[in-house]
Amino acid sequence: MPATPAWPPSSLPRLFVDEPLAQGAVVTLDGGAANYLANVLRLQPGAQVKLFDDRTGEWLGKLTEAGRKKVTMIVGAHLRPREPVPDLWLLFAPIKRGRIDWLVEKATELGAARLVPVTTQRTVVERLNLERLRAHAVEAAEQCDRTALPELAEPVKLERALKDWPQGRALLFADEAGGAPLVEAAAPGPAAILIGPEGGFTANEREAIRALPQARPVSLGPRILRADTAAAASISLWMAAAGDWRG
Ligand code: SAH
Repeated sequence: MPATPAWPPSSLPRLFVDEPLAQGAVVTLDGGAANYLANVLRLQPGAQVKLFDDRTGEWLGKLTEAGRKKVTMIVGAHLRPREPVPDLWLLFAPIKRGRIDWLVEKATELGAARLVPVTTQRTVVERLNLERLRAHAVEAAEQCDRTALPELAEPVKLERALKDWPQGRALLFADEAGGAPLVEAAAPGPAAILIGPEGGFTANEREAIRALPQARPVSLGPRILRADTAAAASISLWMAAAGDWRG
């Protein structure tokens, strides 16, 4: 194992900033980010934080001003580039608030590249608050050391997703009615996992999905998992079998 670099201390706070970072750039934060740094962490000018922008990677920032409502920082050393993310999409039928927040947070920690809410016939949740879901993804990325955010797509109807399915992408269809063990169906290369709603897929949805040449029905064992559990379990299995958990 390479020795853990002593500098910068890994304990530094990490913050996503939605602007391209560069050496010498001045970053001004207000709202929640300023409150977190100045009031929660009570950082003073001179304190260091890690900043990442989902574009150029991670940088060392140094506070030059730490007001209650506004914090300014100057960007210093480039610590690392934006990491490559395994090319795995998660397509999920929106589920109840709380559980969907948990699903987005876990999918981010587990390494998904793209999250696609898919409306199916038994989807009960109508309106999705993408801003709230994006905030959960950002917070999870800050915590789990990602410098690349997962992309959060606009909701799409299942039929449309199937109609526009990309040629070279495998679709691991988590089918509670049964399928191959996921670890056997998983292979390196562009992939997607599809998880249904609490009510499951209808018969004609199942037929339409299985009709897709790229679809691989997969089983997640003999028990019926909640959709959020199924999402976390299937991403984990894929990461171990075909993603970046293979050391
Ligand atoms: N109400 C349905 C289950 C839906 S579970 C029923 O009782 O049959 C929500 C989603 O999680 C499913 O659509 C499927 O995508 C996934 N899932 C849950 N358990 C699974 C399993 N054992 N194998 C494969 N997928 C599963």
